[in-house]
Amino acid sequence: MDVVPIPLLSDNYGYLLVSPDGARAAVVDCSDAAPVLREVERRGLRLQAILSTHHHFDHVGGNEDAARAVPGLRVVGSRADRARVPALTEALADGERFEVAGLHGRALYIPAHTSGHLAYVFEDGEPNVFSGDTLFAAGCGRLFEGSPAQMMASLGKLAALPDATRVYCGHEYTEKNLRFAHELEPGNRAIAEKLARVERMRAEGLPTVPSTIAEEKATNPFLRWRSPELRASIRARFPDAADDDVTVFAKTRELKDSY
Ligand code: ZN
Ligand code: FE
Repeated sequence: MDVVPIPLLSDNYGYLLVSPDGARAAVVDCSDAAPVLREVERRGLRLQAILSTHHHFDHVGGNEDAARAVPGLRVVGSRADRARVPALTEALADGERFEVAGLHGRALYIPAHTSGHLAYVFEDGEPNVFSGDTLFAAGCGRLFEGSPAQMMASLGKLAALPDATRVYCGHEYTEKNLRFAHELEPGNRAIAEKLARVERMRAEGLPTVPSTIAEEKATNPFLRWRSPELRASIRARFPDAADDDVTVFAKTRELKDSY
C-alpha cells in the first residue's frame, strides 16, 4: 500500500493512502485542506475519504474545507467522537472494518489522549497502522481525556500488532522523544542508535516516519515500563513512588510532560 506523508501545520503529518489502481486516495488526518488537495491534484488522484484519528483541531481542521471542495467526500471517524469530528459522515466503533479507496482497514479504539481516539489498521499486504496522537515514534500523546492505565491499555493494543507493522504517527516529535528515552535508558543501544540516525535525518529535513512496532517496543519508554534501567531511572527521580507498572508509566508520562 502506497502511503505519502504530507507535512501539515508546524509538525503534523497527514497521510495520503493511494488506491491499488493508483487513481484514488484517502487521507488520514486532514488538518489543513489546501496542501492535501494540492498533493492529491499533483498526483492526479481523486480524493474519496478522510480518516480522522481524533477531534483535535490539528487533526481535523481541514475537514470542512475539504468536504466543501470535494462533493461526496466521506469523512470517517470514531463513534465516540461523533459530535466532535467536523463533517463526519461515517462513525466506527472498535474493531469495525471499512473500505476506502479500495483499501481494507479496521478501526482500533485507543482512548486516553482523547476519549474517542481511533487508530486505523491496514493488513492487506505489508501491515500499516495510523496511530494519531496515541503512539508516537518513541513517545505517546498527553493524557488529556484518559488515565495512565487507559493509555497503557491503548498502547498495548497497538503493541500487539505484528512487529513488522509500520507506524505512521500524527507528529514529527521523534528526535525530542528519543532524547528523553535516552536519558531514562542511557544503556539501551537501540535508543542510542536510533537517536543518532534520527538526528542525521532531521538535519537533512527528512521525515522520521514510519517507525515499526518492533522499533517501538525496543525504543519507546511508554512501552518499556518493564525495563529495569527505566524503572531505576524513575525510582531515582521519584524515590517515594510505588514500583508497580501503572505508577512507573504515570511517572514517565509526568516527566515527559515537562521535558
Ligand atoms: Zn491531539
Ligand atoms: Fe496532535
